[in-house]
Amino acid sequence: MHVGIGMFRVAITNLHAELICNKMMSFSVDQPAFDVLDNIANLVQETIDESNVNRHRILGVGVGASGLINHVTGVNLRAASLGWHDVPIRERLEAQLNLPVCVDNNVRAMALGEAYFGLGRGVDVLAFIYGRIGVGAGIVVNGQVFRGSGVGAGEIGHTIILPNGGDLCRCGQHGCLETLVSEPILLQEAQLLADKNPNSILDIHLSDAESSPISGMFAAAREGDQPTLGMIENQMQYLGLALANLVNVLNPELIILGGMFAQGSDLILPKVEATMRQLAFAGLGENVNVQPTGFGWRAGVVGAASLALKVFFYEASRETAVSNI
Ligand SMILES: [Zn+2]
Repeated sequence: MHVGIGMFRVAITNLHAELICNKMMSFSVDQPAFDVLDNIANLVQETIDESNVNRHRILGVGVGASGLINHVTGVNLRAASLGWHDVPIRERLEAQLNLPVCVDNNVRAMALGEAYFGLGRGVDVLAFIYGRIGVGAGIVVNGQVFRGSGVGAGEIGHTIILPNGGDLCRCGQHGCLETLVSEPILLQEAQLLADKNPNSILDIHLSDAESSPISGMFAAAREGDQPTLGMIENQMQYLGLALANLVNVLNPELIILGGMFAQGSDLILPKVEATMRQLAFAGLGENVNVQPTGFGWRAGVVGAASLALKVFFYEASRETAVSNI
C-alpha cells in the first residue's frame, strides 16, 4: 500500500510484485490520521474481497508512507504535509486487518522495489528521487535500504540550495530544494506565466478541467510553449545541482526519477542530467545512469509490496527482518 499526500493506493501482488488488482482513494489532508488509517483498512479489506484471493494466502501488508517513519515500530514520526505526528500506522492497521503489517517511508520502499524488480537489479548503489508535493530520496546500497544512523537518510527535498533569499520551506528553513522543484512550486510558476500570457497554450491547458494541472503544464511544454519550457529548465537546474551534491556524497551507479519527475522526464531529464554531470566533482557524474522509473504510477505499490516481501518472505523471521530491512 502506498500512502501519499492526499491519496492512497492499495494493491495485491504476487511474489514478483506484479499487480493482481489495485484500488485508489483520495483523502483530505485535514482528516484526522486515524480516520485515514481506518479508510485504508477498509479499502484493503475491499480489495481482498474483490480479488478472490484467499485471505490465508496473504503474507502480510507492506506500507510505504509519506514522512519520517520508524520502520521498527511502524510509527510515522512526522509527516508535515499530512499534519501527522507520532501516528502508530502498523499497530492501527494490524488491529483492524488482523494481518501482519510493516511500514517504511514510501520513497525508500520505491527504491527497494527498483532494486528487487526494476531498473536497479544488479546495481550496487542507487538513489530513487521522487517528486510530487514533496521531494524525497530512497537509497539502496548493496541490496539494503540505507537509512543513516536514525531514520532520516534521503531527505534531499530539504537540501538547502538557496540559503540567502530562498523561499520559506514547510520545514522552517529557507531555500530548500522542495521550494524550487516540487509540483506546487512548478504549478505556481506556471500559473504566473499563464496569467501573463492569457490564451497561450499553457493558459488553455491549465484551464482544462479534464486533465490535472501538472499534466496540462507538461502538455503545454511538449506543444512548444516557450515560457513553460524555459521555466521548467530553469527550475530543474536546481534538481541537477542537488543531484550533483548527492553524487559527490554517494557515488551511485544509478539515479531513478519517480512521480512528477518521471511523468515529465522527457522535459526534465536532459537539463537535470546535464547540470548534474557539469557540477559533480571530477567527472563523477559521467558514470551515473539517470532514468525515469519503468513502473510509472505503480512505483509506490511495487515498492510497498517489495517491503512486505523483504520482511515477510525473504527474511527468516519478522523480528530479525524488521531490524534488517
Ligand atoms: Zn525544507
